[in-house]
Amino acid sequence: MDKIQIEVIGDNHIGTSEKTPMRADAFERTEAEKIENIQSHFSKIMKEMGLDLTDESLSGTPYRVAKMYIKELFYGLNPNNRPKISTFPNTYGYQNILVEQDINIDSSCEHHFLPIIGKAHVGYIPEHKVIGLSKINRLVDYYAHRPQVQERLCVQIFKDLQETLGTKDVIVVISAKHLCVSSRSIKDKESFTTTLNYGGVFVNLDKRAEFFNLLKNNGDHIK
Ligand SMILES: [Zn+2]
Repeated sequence: MDKIQIEVIGDNHIGTSEKTPMRADAFERTEAEKIENIQSHFSKIMKEMGLDLTDESLSGTPYRVAKMYIKELFYGLNPNNRPKISTFPNTYGYQNILVEQDINIDSSCEHHFLPIIGKAHVGYIPEHKVIGLSKINRLVDYYAHRPQVQERLCVQIFKDLQETLGTKDVIVVISAKHLCVSSRSIKDKESFTTTLNYGGVFVNLDKRAEFFNLLKNNGDHIK
């Protein structure tokens, strides 16, 4: 791919597939080995930029970055880290919309490795199964902690919830700021991006309106 194509893909935020593109050998090395290798690669990047790694403040940075990548920012790449979600029978026969809103999004764009910061709002209508509320937040957190494009993040959360809950009646909306838009390129500090995925009854405008009205009445995050 030439350098112009590389910029075009980054600036247009093009994602290539619904699944995070992973290598077949992605998990052959242990986390400790990955941290050691990334530490070595990152110190080369810093040296190339002319930084003096014997400086006390800088000397630990390659290790800190490597550990942060594997254990924190990108822990969601490893399927073993997906939160364990137990489902419970819908014994109360609850048949209306349930909304979990203002879930923090702390993600990173896969084109520039810069933060994506925002909120996710999830609604679903239970059929036979329900899950603990905090599990929705944990699932959002897991998919966010990968190099992402916002559209794919929205789809991955949506599909997992449909599967886990055993219902098509799921809606996911994400509004987020991309630091690669606000801090570089066009440098637009105010704009944010909204993505939406819905299925089942949320195909009906009325049901979507009910969801958005609940969000609007509960906060000022959706304008
Ligand atoms: Zn980006």
